[in-house]
Amino acid sequence: MDAPKNAAQHTAMQPAGSTIHPHVVQSLIMKQITLPFTAVFEFHDELNEFLPMSRRGRCNQYLFDKTPSVKDAVEAQGVPHTEVGLITVNHVPIGFGYHCRDTDRFDVYPVNSGVTAEPRVLLRPEPMTCSGFILDVHLGKLARLMRLMGFDTLYRNDYDDPEIVRLSIAENRAVITRDRALLHARVIDYGYCIMSTDATEQLSGVIRRFNLQNSIVPFSRCLACNGKLYPVDKASIITQLEPLTIQFFDTFFRCNDCGKVYWRGSHAEKLEKTVSRFTESESVSEPDK
Ligand SMILES: [Zn+2]
Repeated sequence: MDAPKNAAQHTAMQPAGSTIHPHVVQSLIMKQITLPFTAVFEFHDELNEFLPMSRRGRCNQYLFDKTPSVKDAVEAQGVPHTEVGLITVNHVPIGFGYHCRDTDRFDVYPVNSGVTAEPRVLLRPEPMTCSGFILDVHLGKLARLMRLMGFDTLYRNDYDDPEIVRLSIAENRAVITRDRALLHARVIDYGYCIMSTDATEQLSGVIRRFNLQNSIVPFSRCLACNGKLYPVDKASIITQLEPLTIQFFDTFFRCNDCGKVYWRGSHAEKLEKTVSRFTESESVSEPDK
């Protein structure tokens, strides 16, 4: 079998605006080419941001063999399942386990789209039971901002993907990442795929996605380690302070986990400006470097 020649035939047979399920590509190369089944997908609203420009805002053919789940079909087209809030097939709501059939027409809506359909089919447990978040290694700035807002946020710059998935399950945390492939893990119910490269815009997106407007408790967590901050007597930490800090500040907080001491220092104004975009509050700052 001449694989490159067959691959060319496969390309020529692919209709414009169509996607072929990945395992079908290998099948077409290795075997005689057979006509695949065809479904139509329309992704709505911001889900289009995950699609190539040529496939946005339109109905797209999806070619497949066998019976892939709709979760696999959606993700094969670039959209993580965690971004999806509602799927209908021929206008009937379905779950991720539905198996695609020839001539099916799918409409896929984002989380928080406001679109509803009956009978209601939950794509994940509701209400959200996650008690916190875990971020991938590329989101260090966002991790600090989330901690600044008081959100329970795990982050380390050496997590690998299996560790992030394991911790998200073990500690019931939503996964926030720029790596959409990480969100393909079936065991992840709650996640958020970051598209912006600006940390403040990323934070706005997180607050909107997880409805955190009423959960903001600024300056309550350690920016370095995520531990909770508690008031501490000046006398008990005075040996850790510089002379000018002793002279000008009397209110201090200490991280319950790493022991880092915070007060309303020179960084406070910048941090307060960031926080004030979302709420109004008193603040403390990291120690001056
Ligand atoms: Zn700490």
